[in-house]
Amino acid sequence: MARAKSVKPVAQALGAAAPLLAGQEPEPADRYIQWLRRSPTPHHAVVAVTERLAENGFEAWDYGARLPVVPGERRYVVHPDGKSVIAVVVGERSPVRAGYALVGAHTDSPDLRLRLNPLSQSAGVTQLTTQFHGGLIRRAWLDRPLALAGAVYHALRDKHGRPRLHEITGLPVMVKRLVHLDEPVGLIPDLAIHLDREKNDKGAINPQTMLNAIVASGDGDANAVLARLAQRAGVDFAELDGFDLHFVSAQAPQRVGLDRSLVVGARHDDLAMVWCALEGLVASLHGRSNTVRTRVAAFFDAEETGSLTSSGAASSFLRDVLLRIARQHPDTDSRDDAEQAFAHSFCISADMAHAVHPNYADMHDKNHAPRINQGPVLKANASDRYATTGETGAVFAALCEAAEVRLQDYVVKQDMACGTTIGPITSAQLATRVVDVGLPMWAMHSAAETCGASDLADMVEVMRVFYAGRA
Ligand SMILES: [Zn+2]
Repeated sequence: MARAKSVKPVAQALGAAAPLLAGQEPEPADRYIQWLRRSPTPHHAVVAVTERLAENGFEAWDYGARLPVVPGERRYVVHPDGKSVIAVVVGERSPVRAGYALVGAHTDSPDLRLRLNPLSQSAGVTQLTTQFHGGLIRRAWLDRPLALAGAVYHALRDKHGRPRLHEITGLPVMVKRLVHLDEPVGLIPDLAIHLDREKNDKGAINPQTMLNAIVASGDGDANAVLARLAQRAGVDFAELDGFDLHFVSAQAPQRVGLDRSLVVGARHDDLAMVWCALEGLVASLHGRSNTVRTRVAAFFDAEETGSLTSSGAASSFLRDVLLRIARQHPDTDSRDDAEQAFAHSFCISADMAHAVHPNYADMHDKNHAPRINQGPVLKANASDRYATTGETGAVFAALCEAAEVRLQDYVVKQDMACGTTIGPITSAQLATRVVDVGLPMWAMHSAAETCGASDLADMVEVMRVFYAGRA
């Protein structure tokens, strides 16, 4: 099937870089870049999501308390681990009858995280040893200035220095703090080619030995290095009881190309989709919208490692929240079953897609070679690595048509393995209809990925139409 070629002129309105005039709204790609800079880890991405939601009248629901469901209210629920979040605009009708308009995306990206007890000294330098999260492109992490970000935890202590235990739960009372040391504090230098003449042809990178980051030179005292790090981060590392600390690229995302049409940066997979869903949801609040059904955006941690965590897509987090909303909704009758809601729902699972690469064009089938800046991508796989069905794909194609946005198709070459995402997991968890879509990008899982500036605007528009239920 050939996709329609019609497209709104705005989708290609790139042209040369024009300086912003006073009061002029920045382009979507520039707003995305600003948001992405504030989201170095899932912890930070969730905060950046909730800040944007709060600007638009959303208030927090406490996952540990009863959810007071009021039609028309805007709410969000952060999972207790702080790495997944669900935004909700409560519809006027019970979800049992009107269903949910759902979008899912993921907050984590492949990166290098500190090991427990990471400090190591050898060859006259101090290193922090790392462990990898997800299927990262190892060589992309070499020779790249690295910043440090994440969450740190310490137990509250009594005056004798003993951890305080909670009166009811009996657990130590923990304090969590986010850290974003947004400066180049680490580096993983490559080995000179003179010391390995075969590296251009072979060049395997052992993650145990070759991905540890240097944070200081000289034979100084390791504690002094930690103290310096602590001072910069505003945290006393000696007091810490635990941490989730990530090395992330210290290079800011930026627009590239004579036409500024490309966006290079870390974590497009999948923060570009988180951002598009978020902006589409927000945009749906500011125009004519279907206010009958309940709008939901779910952003999950741990997709890159298979989603099987307490807040990942394979957890009960989303299902629990949706069932609780359905039960508490004042329009739900006591004779209704909350699970009825899933029969009336539709979910867009949004995760990035592989654009055809000019230097590796034979990695794509010619009918399934999505191009950067030519619109969203519908992803299908007959072995169910994607959740798209003939019906759900048709629904998304019609949404794109309503939004006047081009759509591209992607099926992996049949002699290659297909990736997967949260779509199949979500469809299995909810028994609801799901379509897998994304935006085309290059170098997925690199420390510097590339996506298209106009594609971001297009996907926001499709999400807006989906949430608004109006073109
Ligand atoms: Zn992804």
